[in-house]
Amino acid sequence: MVKLSKRLQMIADRVPKGARLADIGSDHALLPTYLAKNGAISYAVAGEVNPGPFEAAIRQVLESGLSKVIHVRSGDGLAVIEPEEVNVITIAGMGGSLMASILDAGKAKLQGVTKLILQPNVGEDQVRRWLDAHGWLLESEAILEEDGKIYEILTAVTVINDTAKQMQAIYQERRLSGHKIVDKERLLQMGPFLMTEASQVWFRKWANELEKLAMIEGQLSRSSAEASKLKAEQIAYEIREIKEVLACSQKVKL
Ligand code: SAM
Repeated sequence: MVKLSKRLQMIADRVPKGARLADIGSDHALLPTYLAKNGAISYAVAGEVNPGPFEAAIRQVLESGLSKVIHVRSGDGLAVIEPEEVNVITIAGMGGSLMASILDAGKAKLQGVTKLILQPNVGEDQVRRWLDAHGWLLESEAILEEDGKIYEILTAVTVINDTAKQMQAIYQERRLSGHKIVDKERLLQMGPFLMTEASQVWFRKWANELEKLAMIEGQLSRSSAEASKLKAEQIAYEIREIKEVLACSQKVKL
């Protein structure tokens, strides 16, 4: 029986029962194999662009006796599916900008898809931006820590009339305690649901990010170049703003 990591398990838990799934960048096809073995999905495409993982996925599916349910295909992003073929897509374990470019290049293939479950390793804001710009409602966010790494899982659904209003509300400017105003840009960066939940893992993630920013600021401010000094000032501002959001989120549960 396939045993999933905590990260993949949390993604699996978000796949609706009976889904027709495409798992893009499936690597060893662990996620669709686990879901199919448990009878949680009726059909799956496991897409892989690289030959090694593609072959590993084929082996996994064959050995699990799931070739009738899981179709392993070689190709770039959403090129491996046809419009209306699946209703749920998972993309996990790659950078947010690659994820956004896969979704962008494959827009025509999203016909019939009602849910996207995305787990970017970095650049989560770029995924939120893409979803927001292309009419996908961010439905939920989760954050977890495993083996010293922190991951976010973003789930989005297609917008129908009712959800258009919710779509606006998610990124609406909000006031935290201490009268801190958080604008859409900050919500896209830090996650509207994650900010509301303000979990310990989320605080740890931003403490790590602040450390990285402080290091960059230190390096830039030692330079005598005017452009570097300017950049250092921008980063110092960014650090102050994030710290304020964290301080104000600690006191309030919206
Ligand atoms: N999704 C699995 C997970 O979360 O554990 C595997 C993640 S692995 C780090 C990323 C996988 O995405 C690699 O197997 C890589 O070959 C694949 N990949 C990268 N770019 C891709 C693309 N444009 N289309 C399909 N697969 C891609």
